[in-house]
Amino acid sequence: MNLQRKPIITGNWKMNQKISEAIELVNGLKRELYDEEGIEIVICPPYTALSELGESLQDSNIQLGAQDLFWESSGAYTGEVSASMLKDVGCRYVIIGHSERRHYLGETNEMVAKKVRRALDEKLIPIVCVGERLEEREEGKTFEVVKDHLANGLSLVKKEEIHEVVIAYEPVWAIGTGKNATAGQAEEVHAFIRKLLGDVFDKTAAARVRIQYGGSVKPENIAELMEEEDVNGALVGGASLTIEGFSQIVKRAHIRVS
Ligand code: PEP
Repeated sequence: MNLQRKPIITGNWKMNQKISEAIELVNGLKRELYDEEGIEIVICPPYTALSELGESLQDSNIQLGAQDLFWESSGAYTGEVSASMLKDVGCRYVIIGHSERRHYLGETNEMVAKKVRRALDEKLIPIVCVGERLEEREEGKTFEVVKDHLANGLSLVKKEEIHEVVIAYEPVWAIGTGKNATAGQAEEVHAFIRKLLGDVFDKTAAARVRIQYGGSVKPENIAELMEEEDVNGALVGGASLTIEGFSQIVKRAHIRVS
């Protein structure tokens, strides 16, 4: 692990947790993680719980993020939520281009690019998800797919902004399946991502970009993943839904920081 890049562990709650459940989970996380330093902790609850949790997380070491945003600033876009609305409820981060949105809702690289642009314009930190499906990996297309997601999804980002973007490498075959990529498989793609960012943007800036791994991260596998040079944290789905699961992941990632 490279200590110049502050590790970041993000919990993606997806479409889970009503407000009362969300408050219970956050209270538990605050209790377990209050003294964690040196690692950035982010939770991304559903929209309905953001406002309540924004208040509850004020003055805590846990930051708030959203799972998506819309690229326009306001107007007749039924069902959508803008970047400024997210900031209004206390969000600092936003996940963009998650594979579930790409595959179930038809989100394209072009949409991802516009969302990333809007997030940066509004000073939200985008967590941009990239990653191949199982058949693409089996056909040897992993690097091609990741390159396509990155080159097109980041097409509206300026050279001087790239260090602010967080990339989440999430092989689709590892999401929610219990089958995580090995540390070696993750590092191979993370190193490729960093090199690509260096070639497209700027090498010094690329060295500062945090690249999270996502896909069946659990307390049992986080430490091994975090030992890799280019793994700078994790995007956690299922295991972020329990106090024990998420706090153990943060603590075990943290052990490797010191
Ligand atoms: C995710 O959806 O971002 C994810 C990584 O999910 P899980 O940890 O459940 O595989």
